Amino acid sequence: MFLRKAPAAIDDGVWQDVCRRFVLIARFDAAGEGPIRSLAARFLAQKSIEPVQGLALDPVGRNAIAALACLPVMHLGLDYYDGWHSVVVYPGGFLARGHEVDEAGVVHEYEEARGGEAWLAGPVILSLEDVAASGHLDGYNVVIHEMAHKLDMLNGDANGHPPLHAGMDSRVWYEAFSAAYAHSNRCLDAGQEPPLDDYAAQSPAEFFAVASEYFFELPDVLRDAYPDVYRQLDAFYRPGASA
Ligand SMILES: [Zn+2]
Repeated sequence: MFLRKAPAAIDDGVWQDVCRRFVLIARFDAAGEGPIRSLAARFLAQKSIEPVQGLALDPVGRNAIAALACLPVMHLGLDYYDGWHSVVVYPGGFLARGHEVDEAGVVHEYEEARGGEAWLAGPVILSLEDVAASGHLDGYNVVIHEMAHKLDMLNGDANGHPPLHAGMDSRVWYEAFSAAYAHSNRCLDAGQEPPLDDYAAQSPAEFFAVASEYFFELPDVLRDAYPDVYRQLDAFYRPGASA
């Protein structure tokens, strides 16, 4: 039997600092859009936040990570994060090793700097530098990005299609996202700036994760650029709350 620790309440002073440093959290806290502070306390009771490489993570950092992580599940519930337990935090960007198979079947190994990673049924990995750069209403949010991958992985490998709620239509989701993804790639091919960060054009999974960052950070930009995607994300992240 798996017993969950009872959540410890987040200290008033720490929470005020979290809200001061991360305007996005303050915005949702003040809007009363879901009990983000108590959800963050429950997140900390259920997950282990593990600083590595000698990183000293202060309570503001821990609570900020928890609060940012809880924004996507404000209306869904923490159960959406069942099945994994740790958030590993590096001081800065970390090198990730990957491999790619080219058209000739040759496997190329590479290393690249990452601000975050989400493993299927494994940990979420974050760089604290990237966490600090998140939550300032400019469209970048590594925590929301990785948590979106986690939601996407609830039905297998990340492919930009998380399990949808009753009443949502998988075909409508797919059409909205594939049209927007194709548009982003057309922009890049034509040497133009796509409406969302370039990284969205990497794959359908990255498009969903980046669009999720915009949904919380810069909803107007997302709504103007890709209204159909906005509507799908609104139905997904705020079930029952859509206009
Ligand atoms: Zn990603």
